Amino acid sequence: MRSPNHAQEQDRLAFLRRLQILDSLREEIYDDFTLLASTICRTPIAALSLVDENRQWFKSSVGLTVTETSREVSFCSYAILSEEPLIVPDAERDARFADNDLVTGDFRLRFYAGVPITVEGLPLGSLCVMDREPREISEGQISALAALARQLSHTFEARLAKIREQEYRDLLEEAERAFEQVRRRYEGLFKVGTVAQICTDPTGIIREVNEMAESLFDIRDFHVIGTPITNLFPDKAHDRLGLVTGPGMDSLTEEILPGSREHDSSDLWHASKALRNSTGELTGVLHSFRKESRNVNSGTLDLTLLRLAMTDELTGIANRRGFIAELEREFRSIGRDELSILLIDIDHFKEINDTYGHLHGDQVLATLAGILSQTSRAGDVPARFGGEEFVVILPRTSSSEAKLIAERMRQAVADYRWAKCPVTVSIGTATTSPSMSTPNALLSLADVRLYEAKRMGRNRTVAA
Ligand code: GH3
Ligand code: MG
Ligand code: MG
Repeated sequence: MRSPNHAQEQDRLAFLRRLQILDSLREEIYDDFTLLASTICRTPIAALSLVDENRQWFKSSVGLTVTETSREVSFCSYAILSEEPLIVPDAERDARFADNDLVTGDFRLRFYAGVPITVEGLPLGSLCVMDREPREISEGQISALAALARQLSHTFEARLAKIREQEYRDLLEEAERAFEQVRRRYEGLFKVGTVAQICTDPTGIIREVNEMAESLFDIRDFHVIGTPITNLFPDKAHDRLGLVTGPGMDSLTEEILPGSREHDSSDLWHASKALRNSTGELTGVLHSFRKESRNVNSGTLDLTLLRLAMTDELTGIANRRGFIAELEREFRSIGRDELSILLIDIDHFKEINDTYGHLHGDQVLATLAGILSQTSRAGDVPARFGGEEFVVILPRTSSSEAKLIAERMRQAVADYRWAKCPVTVSIGTATTSPSMSTPNALLSLADVRLYEAKRMGRNRTVAA
C-alpha cells in the first residue's frame, strides 16, 4: 500500500528538484551524516533518504546495497508526515508496517528510527537508522539523530544558496552579454554611420565622435573629446547649438547651419536630440550633421549658374565675387584657427601690355593663375581679385606658414620660363588676429603690405 502524501506534496517535490540532488553522485559531506548516525545508534544500517514522487532515493547509506526503493515500502514517507521522530522498535508488531515487503521479504527489516529533514518548512526526506533485529533506541541517540537532521537541513540550505548564487551569476552574465551586444551594435552604428555624429554631455562637451564627423570637421576624436562642440562652429551657430541642450528638446530638431570649416559651398544639415536615462535625467545630446549643398532646392542649373558667376572667365579660377564669398565663409568658421591670405600683384604689367599687346597680357594672366593653382595646397583658394591682382585664401594657416607659401609662389613665378619676357609678382600677406572682426580688415592689411613690397622694389614678399 502506498504511503500517504505530505500536505504540501507538490511544493515539497518542486523544492527537491530545485536542490538538484536526486540521482546526484555520492558526496562525502552526506556520507559523514549516515556514518555518524549508524555509529551513534549502533545500527548496521543508516540512510539519508529523499522522498521523491514514486520512490525514496538514498543520497547516502550505510549497510544498504540498493540506492532506492519504491515509495510503497518506504518508512521514510511516514517519517516526513510528522515533525516528531518515527520510531518502530519491531515492524512485525506495528500495524502500519507488518505487511510491508521490506519486513516480510528477504530484507527482514524489524527496527526503524527516522527524523525528518526539513528545509524552509518542507520535509524532503529523513535521516534514519535500521536493523534486522527488533530493538530500543535511547533518548540520547534520538536527540543526536535529530541534531544530525538539523545539521543536514543547514547543509541543504547551503546547497540551495549556492545554486541561487550560480543562477544569479548566470543571469548577470547573460545580461552582460546582451548589454555587450547592444553596445557593439550601437558602437558599430555610431562609429561607421553615414551621418556625422557627435555626442556631447548636457553642457555641450564632446564625449564621442564618429568617423564621418572626423572627416567632415577634419578632426581627430582624441583632439576634440573633452572640448566644447561650439569650437567646431563659427560664433553665429553657437546659440543654436547651445539651445538644444536646454529642457524640452527631446524631439529631433533640424536646421541648416551656415558655414562650416568646409571649403566647398555647402551648408550643414544639423539635427539634435536630447539623450535621457531611464529616470528622465538629461545625459547628453546627440548631434547629427550632413553636408547640404546650397540651393539644393533650385536644382543643378542654379548650382551651375552660381559656379559660373563665381568663376573668372579668363583664368578659370574664382573671381572677385567667388573670393569674397569664400573669404566670408572662412571668416565665419574660423574658430580658434588662424586664417591667412596672400595679395599678389604683377610687377610692371602695364609695360608688358604696352610692349607685347593686350592679348599676350591675357596669356600672362592665365598662366599666372595656373602657377598659383599648382603651388597651392589642397584647401587653399586662389582667385583673381581684379585686373592683374590675385589673391590666395589660406585656411588654418599661421603668418609664418603664409610667408613660406608666398615666397614659394613668388619664386615659382620668377622661375617660370615665360614666353616673351620675365614676369615677377609682389606679395603682401595677412593673417587674422583675435581682434580682427571683418574680412575687409584682413584685406586692408594685405594691401598695405603689398604696397610696401612694391615700394621696396617689387618681386618680393612683405609679411608680418
Ligand atoms: P606695378 O607693378 O607697380 O603695379 O605696375 P603695374 O603696371 O602692374 O600697375 P598698374 O596697376 O598701373 O597696371 C595694371 C594694368 O593691368 C592696367 C591694365 O591695363 C592692365 N589690365 C587690367 N586688367 C587686364 C586684363 O584683363 N588684361 C590685360 N591684358 N591687361 C589688364
Ligand atoms: Mg595693380
Ligand atoms: Mg601691377
